[in-house]
Amino acid sequence: MAQDCITTQVIVVGAGPVGLMLAGELRLGGADVVVLEQLDAPTTESRASTLHARTMEILDGRGLLDPLGEIPDEPRGHFGGLPLDLTLPSPYPGQWKVPQTRLEELLGEWAARLGAEVRRGHRLTGVTVTDEGVDAEVRGPDGRTALFRAAYLVGCDGEDSAVRRLGGFAFPGTDAARELLRADVAGIDVPNRRFERLPAGLAIAARRPDGVTRVMVHEFGARPRPGQPEFTDVVDAWKRVTGEDIGGGTPLWVNSFGDASRQATAYRSGPLLLAGNAAHRQMPIGGQALNLGLQDAVNLGWKLAAQVTGRAPEDLLDSYHAERHPVGARVLGNIAAQARLLLGGTEVNALREVLAELIPLGHVRTRLAGMISGLDIAYDTDADADTDAGDRPEAGRRLPPRDVTVDGTPVGTAELLRAGQGVLVLPHGDTALRAAAAPWARLVRVADGGPEDTDALLVRPDGYVAWAGTSASGATGALRRWFGEPSAAASPASVRPAPTAAVPALPSVTVTATPKNWRTDMPKLSGKTALVTGSSRGMGRATALRLAQEGALVAVHYATGKEAAEEVVERIEKDGGRAFTVQARLGVPGDVHELFLALEEGLRERTGGTALDILVNNAGVMGGVKPEDTTPEKFDELFAVNAKAPFFLVQRALKNMPDGGRIISISSGLTRVANPDEIAYAMTKGAVEQLTLHFAKYLGPRGITVNSVAPGITRNDNPVFGIPEVVEQMAQLSAFNRVGEPEDIADVVAFLASEDARWITGSFVDATGGTLLG
Ligand code: NAP
Repeated sequence: MAQDCITTQVIVVGAGPVGLMLAGELRLGGADVVVLEQLDAPTTESRASTLHARTMEILDGRGLLDPLGEIPDEPRGHFGGLPLDLTLPSPYPGQWKVPQTRLEELLGEWAARLGAEVRRGHRLTGVTVTDEGVDAEVRGPDGRTALFRAAYLVGCDGEDSAVRRLGGFAFPGTDAARELLRADVAGIDVPNRRFERLPAGLAIAARRPDGVTRVMVHEFGARPRPGQPEFTDVVDAWKRVTGEDIGGGTPLWVNSFGDASRQATAYRSGPLLLAGNAAHRQMPIGGQALNLGLQDAVNLGWKLAAQVTGRAPEDLLDSYHAERHPVGARVLGNIAAQARLLLGGTEVNALREVLAELIPLGHVRTRLAGMISGLDIAYDTDADADTDAGDRPEAGRRLPPRDVTVDGTPVGTAELLRAGQGVLVLPHGDTALRAAAAPWARLVRVADGGPEDTDALLVRPDGYVAWAGTSASGATGALRRWFGEPSAAASPASVRPAPTAAVPALPSVTVTATPKNWRTDMPKLSGKTALVTGSSRGMGRATALRLAQEGALVAVHYATGKEAAEEVVERIEKDGGRAFTVQARLGVPGDVHELFLALEEGLRERTGGTALDILVNNAGVMGGVKPEDTTPEKFDELFAVNAKAPFFLVQRALKNMPDGGRIISISSGLTRVANPDEIAYAMTKGAVEQLTLHFAKYLGPRGITVNSVAPGITRNDNPVFGIPEVVEQMAQLSAFNRVGEPEDIADVVAFLASEDARWITGSFVDATGGTLLG
């Protein structure tokens, strides 16, 4: 069946603040953009709420501050909980409190007004890089899969970024070793606490004007818990640290965050890019994460727009990674230091005392405040360019908002930047530079500086000074370096004027049938992750090979066959696939825990996350004992491996499985054909089918399908398959007069794992080669 294909220039995945900011920036630069968001409606949770000085300047530079009205400002900040005065020369020093919900609403309206199309309820399920750009497979709100095609795709989809995972971006770093529990609680009356270090831990309480109190608590030495905390966890920890009982309150939102620290090694991989928390994971201390992400978007937007509209100079797009990766690394560094100061136990007390003395010192304070507020960012704008920028301190830094004149009328630089163009501020009385810059007039606004201005400043659309100098050749060199050739700039075909009016017509999004060059032989499981239990041999092995062939990263699980499992991984890698081994004996206490420890480690190393898309419950043991010889021990072993382990594997896997995942369990034709030597075994497989039926219903709302596959007699390492007469006898049971091969089953499992099987759930698939026909 032909899929709908929606084409655009840029796909942005994620309609949080970063994605929406980027969408608006792209539209300002004249690019068509579609934003895909898996949530049906904007989140109502009040996550990040702090805007720092540099972000405030940027929002002003887009005309987005006025709609926010009066914003409460707090000049007092902190560094690792130690007081830090954030006052610096900027119109917006301090921490500005805007609930994320309000910011998202505003950015959404702005991006839509500029012509960005936001599609909610759309979940990215596959990404394929093509010669032309990127094809994104997306499941829509109706459950149907659509194809979106664009020149570039940007993941603004947060910590657990699907784009990062599907795009195979490396995401090295460290996992959380400490965590802060957080809850918004109504109906409690506790004293406000600002980073209060008590003997047993750290407590923070801040009552908002609406009466809701945000509490945060960390018990010194406590390790992060698996999964999300309950309100009772917060209540208990709060009690132990402060002695206060908040159990009578009503929790509105409970979560925890840890001090994990990771950063993508590359922010760009061909047509795929990452921005915001998709590119870096950090503890959200002092609201830096949101600010970092928004500034990623503003750095990227104008560059990517120039790229897709064909006017970008060489390497412009690559300067996104070159500029933002070091900024991200520096923020991650200061956050790691702060996390240690905040959450460390008594061992950090001496360090805190020394720092408490140092921080108020002028230089130290301004340095730290510059770091936290984002005002001290300096890009290397002169890299490899033949311009005279290098010796000017302004180059690479933000242009502090100031007044200039245009045609004799005073105007603020923030206002000049609002159309998303560059700005060239000329030295007083200049005529030569004005003439030199004339060919770029569509992309760069020209303004006159005051009498004190002896240098010209070329400011990029993101508000950073690209070049400072006096020579016309320096100016044209910098204009070329950042805005491209004047011919491209002057060509009306290559640049659409930045939209300023209310909702312009939607960008050229077209809905067509399957395009000619849409490849139908595309691997069906690209970017997916799979666990196949018992895949060191037999049909598990064949399934692992098959899933890897379809593009999945496969965890090859085994109990005793280490070498055999390693051979499976080698074989997969030789064929260009990705896999790793995971050892755990099933059917014994702690089995599932042990398996998932190894699994998550392997996934994290290779994908930066722990998402598991496909679980194949294959490992199993046969009985082969007559009813009268079946001991309770044998019975228990059969049930432990074949029935109990799959149940708890499913239960545990659901923590890692995204919506739309797949669970396939191997049953047996013996649930339909009697064989008295295998009563207990067949009973275990009956249990597997019950697991399938009931979990299918339970997981339907999440789009996870659950099915069982029943093989008949299938070749494995059992010596009986080496005896021709026995094989011949067994073959007669099948309608096709042969025994099953492991690949016969692997193909069925691969189908059930694919998007093609999205409409099948709770099903028993007879893969006995017609044995059940009688
Ligand atoms: P197999 O060749 O016997 O291999 C069994 C796999 O399961 C091996 O990888 C083994 O790991 C693993 N395993 C066994 N016990 C385990 C335990 N306690 N903990 C962890 N892993 C364990 O298997 P197969 O014949 O391909 O059968 C696969 C599935 O199909 C089983 O569920 C079986 O019941 C079912 N089935 C088989 C047939 C058939 O005719 N073959 C017919 C119907 C259904 P190690 O080798 O590393 O120990």
